[in-house]
Amino acid sequence: MRWQGRRESSNVEDRRGVSGGQVAVGGGIIGVIVLVLNFLLGGDSSQLPQQVPGGNRQLTSEEKAADDEMSKFVKVVLAETEDVWNTLFEKMGKDYPEPTLVLFSGSTQSGCGFASAASGPFYCPGDQKVYIDLSFYQMLKERFQAPGDFAMAYVIAHEVGHHIQNYLGISDKVHQMRQQLSDEEYNKYSVRLELQADFLAGVWAHHEQRLKNILEEGDIEEALNAANAIGDDNLQKQSQGYVVPESFTHGTSAQRMYWFKKGYETGDINQGDTFNARDLH
Ligand SMILES: [Zn+2]
Repeated sequence: MRWQGRRESSNVEDRRGVSGGQVAVGGGIIGVIVLVLNFLLGGDSSQLPQQVPGGNRQLTSEEKAADDEMSKFVKVVLAETEDVWNTLFEKMGKDYPEPTLVLFSGSTQSGCGFASAASGPFYCPGDQKVYIDLSFYQMLKERFQAPGDFAMAYVIAHEVGHHIQNYLGISDKVHQMRQQLSDEEYNKYSVRLELQADFLAGVWAHHEQRLKNILEEGDIEEALNAANAIGDDNLQKQSQGYVVPESFTHGTSAQRMYWFKKGYETGDINQGDTFNARDLH
């Protein structure tokens, strides 16, 4: 993606280097556990760590440069999603409510609870913010074998897709069903919600290319490769060695690739009704 020198979004809250546990004693949940352990082991509570362990270690200058580069990239991608969605919403006669993106390192508080790097990037409908720990990029590259800037752009566009679903009332409808359905039934809706976010990421990529022409050879493959790598079946195989389809909440690798591609090829928001699609592919 030719992103250097482009506009960076101002809708970014940079919390990197800020301890996530400011609210509770020292280090949030972990701080509380440490406190409990300290008491159990007869320790002195005044010796508590003031930060979440490992959450905010000092970066080397090399790491800091890479981190700054990545944060610039994330801000540019967010700005690009704003441009595209503002244009598409305008065509629908609507105002696009631009979401805020929170960059954090280690851990932070979100409107949806305590967030850590292990949570992975997510969108919180409660405060309408996208949360990203930049170390996820490294994880995509190394753990998921999905390198490339556009892999990360896809992840951001997917979270922005959740924001759009939230605004359109789709997420609410799905979440309301939680009480009425068994976990297994609910997961099926959750999968459709996730696949639609992938579709919306594809719609963004389509218009991004049409309006800005900044995609490079291989970018779409990077996004598809990431969609493939973070499919539920793939993740489960990696973590437990077998696949349990009833517990899927995001869709299989093939389904995630299919919906991203459909969005990318059509660019038509009306083609993304994953809820009424007979075959998710
Ligand atoms: Zn998602």
